[in-house]
Amino acid sequence: MSSLPINPPPRLLMGPGPINADPRVLRAMSAQLLGQYDPAMTAYMSETMALYRTVFDTANVQTLLVDGTSRAGIEAALVSLIEPGDRVLVPIFGRFGHLLKEIAERAGAEVHVREVEWGQVFTAAAIEQAIIETRPVLLAVVHGDTSTTVMQPLEELGEVCARHGVLFYTDVTASLGGNPVHTDAWGLDAVTAGLQKCLGGPSGSAPATFSSRATDVIRSRSSVEAGLRDPGETAGRSPIRSNYFDLAMIFDYWGPRRLNHHTEATTALYGARECARLLVCETLPVAIERHRLHGAAMLAGVRGLGLSVFGDLEHRMNNVVAVVIPDGVNGDAVRGALLGDFGIEIGTSFGPLQGKIWRIGTMGYNARRDTVLTTLAALEQVLRRLGAPVTGGGGVGAAWDVYSDQEPS
Ligand SMILES: *Cc1c(COP(=O)(O)O)cnc(C)c1O
Repeated sequence: MSSLPINPPPRLLMGPGPINADPRVLRAMSAQLLGQYDPAMTAYMSETMALYRTVFDTANVQTLLVDGTSRAGIEAALVSLIEPGDRVLVPIFGRFGHLLKEIAERAGAEVHVREVEWGQVFTAAAIEQAIIETRPVLLAVVHGDTSTTVMQPLEELGEVCARHGVLFYTDVTASLGGNPVHTDAWGLDAVTAGLQKCLGGPSGSAPATFSSRATDVIRSRSSVEAGLRDPGETAGRSPIRSNYFDLAMIFDYWGPRRLNHHTEATTALYGARECARLLVCETLPVAIERHRLHGAAMLAGVRGLGLSVFGDLEHRMNNVVAVVIPDGVNGDAVRGALLGDFGIEIGTSFGPLQGKIWRIGTMGYNARRDTVLTTLAALEQVLRRLGAPVTGGGGVGAAWDVYSDQEPS
């Protein structure tokens, strides 16, 4: 048994997440703990709520952190909104749509799915048609799905949901901070995210926001734990089937009642607050433009090497590109050499795309010119050494062209 200190090898994480955390986030996370009702701590909680209102572009009161990875946010939203027997519609266009289905089923929903081929997205008309056919209480759809690198347009769906009296949940883990997300303008009722993609932090905290419509549904299911109830207060009508993910209790913990629930994960909150603070200082439009620029440079670079990209490019996320592994090239050998010789990680893929594409991310702290150019240079050398035909200098050159086009002449 070794007990050496943690000393991870230096890596440049250019996969679909996690990515290298912004050093400022890591520094914030090394700060000392506070008691959970210390006014300094509750002030940090309130500041975090306000910062994430800006990040989610919402006025929702119930904007807070669910402790756990992104999946904890998804699970909290679905288990708190869904009553057993509720019909839920899940349009699936990648791996994370299957996850929404699986979580909704575990919450007791009658789940209806529609599927498109991986790499494509749905039209609003197709989703409206499915709503008419299945009459769901809730539409649950992923925004950007890193498994296929495409992003489902949401801006028309809020109006469709409102017209049919359907609650609208979306997972923006992969898109938030690097692509536009407008919670209120798009009519989103419940939105959850994570830190390890464009927010530049570690996984372990799930920022989330809930409209007053969603809050009312959740509150109607609220129950106060027996040890905390006021005399005369009773458990709810159809209690939320998870204690840890009971958002009604989590709202009371983050709200003025400060009713004890879990112990807020202090270190994770420091990190989540710093992620949001950095984004708000940069401003969302500037952060999104940064992701667009470096994503465009990476896309041009892989094409400049003579490689093809996968998926509907019109609906591509800014922050991750899917590269088709050329015929005769062992995708894992390329990833192994990038990691072993250059310390650069790129992503593999799963499901129907397994062995067919690499996924290269440019997100959060790693959405930068030096990371893009370094990755393209290393990829070219690894491919050449493994005997794959590539255009010499084509990757870095094409990316440089994208950057020089951006500069004032
Ligand atoms: C990366 C990603 C997640 C990650 O979930 P974790 O629980 O943090 O691993 C969830 N949803 C989407 C759409 C993602 O791209």
